Parts: sequence; C-alpha cells; structure tokens
Amino acid sequence: MISCYDIGGSFIRSGVLLAAGTVAESERVKTPGNDWDAFVLAVRKAAAPETSRISISLAGAYDEETGIADVANIPCLHGRMVQKELSAALNLPVAIINDANAFALAEAVDGTGRGKPVVFGIILGSGVGGGLVINGELVTGFGGIAGEWGHGPIIDPAAGGALSGIEPYKCGCGLVGCVDAVGSARGLERIHFSLHGSEITSREITRDWHQGAKEASETVDAFTTLLSRALSALVNTLGPHVIPVSGGLSNDEKLLELVDRKTRDLVLARYPDPLIVRGDFASNGGLHGAGIFARKAFGGTRQ
Ligand SMILES: [Zn+2]
Repeated sequence: MISCYDIGGSFIRSGVLLAAGTVAESERVKTPGNDWDAFVLAVRKAAAPETSRISISLAGAYDEETGIADVANIPCLHGRMVQKELSAALNLPVAIINDANAFALAEAVDGTGRGKPVVFGIILGSGVGGGLVINGELVTGFGGIAGEWGHGPIIDPAAGGALSGIEPYKCGCGLVGCVDAVGSARGLERIHFSLHGSEITSREITRDWHQGAKEASETVDAFTTLLSRALSALVNTLGPHVIPVSGGLSNDEKLLELVDRKTRDLVLARYPDPLIVRGDFASNGGLHGAGIFARKAFGGTRQ
C-alpha cells in the first residue's frame, strides 16, 4: 500500500493511493516545523497500517542532483537530504516531488491539461512557482529548476509608466526585484503599499478592486501587467496548451481572467480560448500529484 502526503508549511495532509489512481485523504495534522524527530513521527503516524511505500509532495525546492531540500517554511527540513533521511528513519522507500510539480502533474494527467502536450502549472499564492509537464512527463531540468519562473529580476525602478514607483523588493532567493517578490499575494500587498502607502491584505485589495475602488484598481492593473509580462516570455518559450493555476489567488476568477487576457495580448500565438485558468486540482494538487508520482516512481498502485 502506498501512502501519499502533501507536506506544507502549515499542514501535513495524507491519504492512501487507491487502485483507481486517486488519493483518499484521511488525515490532516499540523506540520512540526522545527523538530525533525516530531516531523518523522507525524509522517509515521499518518501512514496507513500496511504502508510499504511513501510518496510526498513537498512545499519547497528539492534538488534532484544533490538530494538537498530547500524548504524555508519548514526549518527542520531545510538543508536536509529529506528523501534519504526520511527513508532511513521510516525504513520505507520514499519518493519526493516538489508541490508545484505535483500540481502540474495532476493537471496534465487528470485535470485541465488532460490530453494536451504541453502543460505549465503555476502557483500564485504566498509565493510564485510552477511545474512543466510535456507529453505526460514531468520536466525537472538541471538541478530541478525547471518551472521556477518566479525568480529572476524583472522590476526596473526606471521602467516608468504604470510600473513606476514599485520598489524592487528583495527576494528569498537572494536576488532583488524577482517576479516572486511582486507576483504573489504578498507581492500584491507590496505593490499596493509602494503605490499608495497603505498596508492592507491581498484579500482587501481584490475586494476593493471588485467594488471599483480607484487605488485598488491601479494596484491590480500594475500587478497583472507585471505578471502578464513575465508569463508572456514563458508562453513564447514553452508554447503551453494550458496554464492551470493554483494557490490563494487562483480563487479570484476575475483576477485570473485579467491575467489571462493581458498575457494572451502579449504572446506570439493567437490562443482562441483562455490559456490561464483555475486548475481542477487547485485545492488538492499536492496529494493527487503525489499519487501520480508514486505510480511513476514505484511502478503501480500496489506493492
Ligand atoms: Zn527570487
């Protein structure tokens, strides 16, 4: 039996992989963020009794070459060789996939990208991430970086126009002015602060925008312009057939529609239908993707 996990900064969700390929979610516990032993215990306790394999979607980068995890939200995993160490601690084979890759895989195999050759799944939440699946196969690239379109500086203070006044914020990756620092929910708040000097939440900003407020509308205009510029280069590079979205901002249909329209206006191909859409697995892509990944890593649902 294969137990699947979606391990995030706040919660560990888990369930058993069924023969049909879906994951029956059974547990949700708080992630022990600072204590490795407590973390191992939580994973062990959440496993079904006859578990013989474990597949994990992990919120953070996982370097396939070195095996070292880069998980800022879960300090006890950060810098650890999680797959190797967890496998040794549990005495079970463990497969690990990054959460954005898990979501992209879920969408490509069973969601909005089903039957489509190039699927680029993106996360617009507390951070910006992505995963690339081509012909049903995950593409991780050198060092596992494929899909990390949130990094690389795009903010130029001298750019002028709608984007003047937006600060090039320091990103968690060490660079300054990355998409991640302005294209996430936190980024929406930062842009609002940059332009209007008021500190309100991303939910308040989108709510005000829906109600037609001028300041929030300017913020959303700048935010969606930045996102669509970054996405247009990505679309022209990859030629995706669909870009499913997950993460907190994916719940705002109108916001996605605006990002989609602006992006399609900037790319070379003429997409007749929406390209950037809410993913079918926007809320459970980690678990479902971990299930698909398990079948690929372990070669079946039984074992
Ligand atoms: Zn960055």
